Amino acid sequence: MNEIIPIPFPGMCGNCYLLKNGDNYVLVDTALRTKRNMLEEKLDELGCTPEKLKLIVLTHGDFDHSGNALYLGKKYDSPVAMHREDAPITENGRMFINKKKKRTLIDWLSRKFLQIDTFTPDIYMEDGMDLNNYGVKAKILHLPGHSAGSIGVLTAENDLLCGDLLENRKRPRLYYVDDAGAVQKSIEKLKQYEIRVVYPGHGSAFRFTDFSG
Ligand SMILES: [Zn+2]
Repeated sequence: MNEIIPIPFPGMCGNCYLLKNGDNYVLVDTALRTKRNMLEEKLDELGCTPEKLKLIVLTHGDFDHSGNALYLGKKYDSPVAMHREDAPITENGRMFINKKKKRTLIDWLSRKFLQIDTFTPDIYMEDGMDLNNYGVKAKILHLPGHSAGSIGVLTAENDLLCGDLLENRKRPRLYYVDDAGAVQKSIEKLKQYEIRVVYPGHGSAFRFTDFSG
């Protein structure tokens, strides 16, 4: 039985989640570099030790989700996993390198102020990949649209960690769309599953049925 423990961050920073099954933990997303101390304290509080943390999954490459992946991967001796299509973001420290819409001001600001670590992920995640080997009952869904390499984590209980496909700061809705066609396909794909609760990258959890598209 999985438990999903939100580690929320307000504002522009992405939420993190600990997916827990008994003594096995998988960390989903790692927040901004500037939130490092806060995140480390929270992980300590939650009893997340190097022995228990089996994997770090990034829902996509953006820096508000990948900012502490390299650091935490080393600290906890845990592999960092993401989709191959977003690897150019973390390898080059360029958030818009693989996006259709190039937001040059945000690109420039992020590189100037965010102290970005560049890294290559240890593992590439693909659609349908099972996380059982890492001690949790869940699988990966490729959900492109916010970025080409965006993924979600669907638990055996049909709860979804959706990254930045959907958000719920004021109400459940699409987050920033880079590729509208891909987003629509990703939403259609989700409708094939009887998803219960969605845990978004920004905002609080909501029932999937409360998302009206
Ligand atoms: Zn985000």
